Amino acid sequence: MILVILETPISKAGLESLCCATKLGDTLTVGLVGAAAQEAANSIGGCGARFLAVEGEPYSVSRYATDAAAAEALIRASGAALAIAPCTHRWQRALPGVAQRVGGAIDTHAVDISPGSVRRWYYRQRIEVTLARAATPWIILREPGSGDPWQGVPAQATVERLDVTPPATRTQVEGIEAQAASQQTIRPDAALLFVAGAGWTKKQKDGAVRTSEASELILQFVNRTGASLGSSKSLVDQSGEGQAVLPFLTHLHQVGQTGSTPRHRKGLASCCHGEEPHVVGWRFVNERRAINLDPNCGWARGKADVLYVADAFEVLREAAKALGQPGAD
Ligand SMILES: Cc1cc2nc3c(=O)[nH]c(=O)nc-3n(C[C@H](O)[C@H](O)[C@H](O)COP(=O)(O)OP(=O)(O)OC[C@H]3O[C@@H](n4cnc5c(N)ncnc54)[C@H](O)[C@@H]3O)c2cc1C
Repeated sequence: MILVILETPISKAGLESLCCATKLGDTLTVGLVGAAAQEAANSIGGCGARFLAVEGEPYSVSRYATDAAAAEALIRASGAALAIAPCTHRWQRALPGVAQRVGGAIDTHAVDISPGSVRRWYYRQRIEVTLARAATPWIILREPGSGDPWQGVPAQATVERLDVTPPATRTQVEGIEAQAASQQTIRPDAALLFVAGAGWTKKQKDGAVRTSEASELILQFVNRTGASLGSSKSLVDQSGEGQAVLPFLTHLHQVGQTGSTPRHRKGLASCCHGEEPHVVGWRFVNERRAINLDPNCGWARGKADVLYVADAFEVLREAAKALGQPGAD
């Protein structure tokens, strides 16, 4: 018996967990947590699962006490030996405590789940490990982006609502402060990762540094293509060293050994040398291209599928023309 724990409305990461669970060949229960479950259940009604829900205003926000109470009730009511949830901030925070409450075990960052075992990466994605456990219920947090989302048809679903008394809470969720979507340049669901390297802020062939032009070209490109923006370490470190910087880049953008390991279908590196500590972060980017003036850069040594030996300023200016009129974004 497998339980998939999902928040409502169901996110892409949630649909990926559902898709993964449907392939395990066991009886499936979907446990929904949120303000109202019916619409979410109908949206995935074709998956053939039994639907349980803990719904109501207290469960509409991410908060340890209410999330843990809801998940515990769902696990107990389902009788599942295996519970899968997306490895998002919400479930990473709540489910380890739930594993203790139900006397089970938990593993996080799983990238593949098979009957009886899970796979995950360790040591900055260098070692891949297969784990099996005897303890039940076994809770598994599945890494977003490591598989396809469920794409079945909606259908009217019968939802069994669990009567869970909301626990006393000390945490009042007053709202979410988030950047405007147009300012948010880290986009995990984008098909393309665009990476900027330190070359953008170096002296160019005319002897000038053109940081503001670089900023404009890069932002224009990522906003018009909907790409996610990444950076090399050298470029984001420059702000700490008092050098010319691109103001919209932070250490959260850094891709690599000491940065992130994003999962995008395609990647385009620009003005970035392609050194091993950077490229290790490209492990899960399937199709890689790079733009560099130097035909002997790291990308040319088997690290990219295509290297454009070209001036990235010129390439992005041409791309801007092809993508539409300035001011369109
Ligand atoms: C323990 C350790 C961990 C590290 N972790 C990371 C990490 O997580 N992420 C990371 O990025 N690095 C990491 N590094 C650093 C890494 O080794 C490199 O120093 C860094 O990635 C270099 O950044 P860069 O390629 O942007 O800059 P540079 O090496 O300065 O390369 C700039 C490139 O821009 C090109 N260029 C310049 N102008 C143009 C133009 N107009 N058009 C096209 N190309 C142009 C140049 O030819 C050059 O190749 C780590 C290093 C160590 C030792």
